[in-house]
Amino acid sequence: DKRVAILASGGDSPGMNAAIRAFVRSALWENYQVFGIQNGYEGLLENEIRELSSRDMGMIINQGGTMLGTARSAEFQTPAGLQKAAANLNAAKIDALCVVGGDGSFRGLLALSEFYKGQVVGIPGTIDNDIPGTEYTIGFDTAVQTAVEAIDKLRDTALSHGRVFFVEVMGRKSGQIALSVGLASGAEDVVIPEEKTDADVVAKRLLDGRKKGKRFGIVVVAEGDDSGGAFKLAETVQQKVGFNIRVSVLGHIQRGGSPTSHDRVWGSRMGEAAVRFLKNRMTGVFTAMRGGHIIPAYLIEATVGVRAVEPEMVQLVRIMGS
Ligand code: ATP
Repeated sequence: DKRVAILASGGDSPGMNAAIRAFVRSALWENYQVFGIQNGYEGLLENEIRELSSRDMGMIINQGGTMLGTARSAEFQTPAGLQKAAANLNAAKIDALCVVGGDGSFRGLLALSEFYKGQVVGIPGTIDNDIPGTEYTIGFDTAVQTAVEAIDKLRDTALSHGRVFFVEVMGRKSGQIALSVGLASGAEDVVIPEEKTDADVVAKRLLDGRKKGKRFGIVVVAEGDDSGGAFKLAETVQQKVGFNIRVSVLGHIQRGGSPTSHDRVWGSRMGEAAVRFLKNRMTGVFTAMRGGHIIPAYLIEATVGVRAVEPEMVQLVRIMGS
């Protein structure tokens, strides 16, 4: 009886497909009619809406990216754009909209709900794991795994040549990816936006390592760090330590690839939970993971600030790298 739609927005992330698949099949299970909107809010403005069947969801759980496409839209951010988007949803008689995306996409969904009177629900899908109010965002595990595998390879050459590598990872204004990657790859140090970066301190840690007999080193640098990125920081630190530092920027490979089982499982669970929230007449909420469970949390909670890193985790990475 209900007509529900789903779209992906912002940066793509591995596991979004699992969430879309679970949303579609759970909604069909409830005898809802389900529609997919292609290319995010941009596609909503262009009326790229089509009905989805269970079979459309076949063979996508193992694929990275999103089968619905995603986009960033400037027009959507204007009142006229939001009005047009709401009008398109109303014209298609959509009773509820689900958006898979990051905090920017949630901000967009809240803005849309001023004009669109149907139910709205969010699923956190971003590799950054930076959304306040949820302990997990779909795609994080795969992105961390990809970066760790890349660093394992860099480590081989770092060891052979006795080199120090600064490896820049994604994460926007958050150090979550850098911290997990640093811990899992056995990095000597991490450089994150949540701490004031001091090149002297970074240099001293590297020199201390040398004194202890370390023949090589990996320093994970978060892209959003105030030092201005791995290249700039490496240049400064290089002068202080007196040896060459190589730089590797992992870039977009971190966003791609087949999702890990963790992202498939949580993508699926969040997709199902989103339908359950809609069935229970909720709106303005997203599927938040807390303490290993999925609960409804207000979208507004996700749009304020960046999820904080745990100081214990930072300390642990430093101890392990010492
Ligand atoms: P990621 O963190 O993975 O990049 P994101 O969802 O944060 O994902 P954004 O580019 O910040 O990505 O947001 C996606 C889209 O949401 C924007 O292109 C824009 O169309 C819409 N949006 C963001 N903020 C607002 C807002 N305040 N009002 C209306 N629309 C918005």
